[in-house]
Amino acid sequence: MQKKLVKIKPKKSLGQNFLIDKNILKKISNIANITNQNTIVEIGPGKGNLTEFLLMRNPSKLFVIEKDEKLSIFLQNKFKKRIIILNRDILEFEDSDIFTHKTFVFGNLPYNISSQILLKFIINQNNFKYEKLIFMFQKELAERIIAKVNSKHYGRLSIISGWKFDIKKIIDIKPNCFQPKPKVESSLLIFENKKNYDKSFNPANLEKITRIFFNQKRKKIKKPLNLIFKNNLEILKKLNLNQDLRPQNLKPETFFKITKEFEKLI
Ligand code: SAM
Repeated sequence: MQKKLVKIKPKKSLGQNFLIDKNILKKISNIANITNQNTIVEIGPGKGNLTEFLLMRNPSKLFVIEKDEKLSIFLQNKFKKRIIILNRDILEFEDSDIFTHKTFVFGNLPYNISSQILLKFIINQNNFKYEKLIFMFQKELAERIIAKVNSKHYGRLSIISGWKFDIKKIIDIKPNCFQPKPKVESSLLIFENKKNYDKSFNPANLEKITRIFFNQKRKKIKKPLNLIFKNNLEILKKLNLNQDLRPQNLKPETFFKITKEFEKLI
């Protein structure tokens, strides 16, 4: 019987820019020290270009989560039983069973939802376990994630990601390594869980607090503090803060303290 060919036309709405540079694909698959004890989850495998390289590392299991039904059928034909295909939307994905502390999560992420995906793995950290995240972002977003206090790109994502992870930038990747070519450069980041980090508050509240502050990025901190706390002057005093500072001047630890004060109210 002749096999039916599935024609794949990249969908812009799903951020489908497929990585085609074999050297980069190999480099990504070799980043983490994967053994046959580890499970891999790949988010948005596309046509399986990275999946092929990840399989060469012989993980105990390889799950892929792909929203596009056509691509899921394509992957089924290509890999048969060598991988487990979940034709689902990662943002609605709830099955935490496939994630264990020995899981490596890879993804050349769809750019329009990449920060939401990263936040999902941080905020749901008690359900979604993993050893490392290896994610590709638009270069500009990657810069925001790794930015330090008092710098231009510092903000919500730097504070929340830096709370839980040690983050390393591995490489920048040029548009011509993809098909179709995106307009901007990409960067690959690796996220490792910190051994010690402050677990005394809920990261969803840290997200809430930093969102309020950085929505008013240019305003002095008095304004967002006023929105959150009735006793904002007391909080300023208690945390020893100068009300003329702006959100970009506050260290991550200060946002942790503000989150804890906020949690006393709820
Ligand atoms: N990993 C492939 C590669 O590097 O060639 C494809 C990467 S492409 C940038 C992003 C992939 O994520 C596409 O395959 C797209 O269909 C998939 N995708 C987009 N939104 C998704 C979602 N909400 N849940 C799961 N997959 C999604």
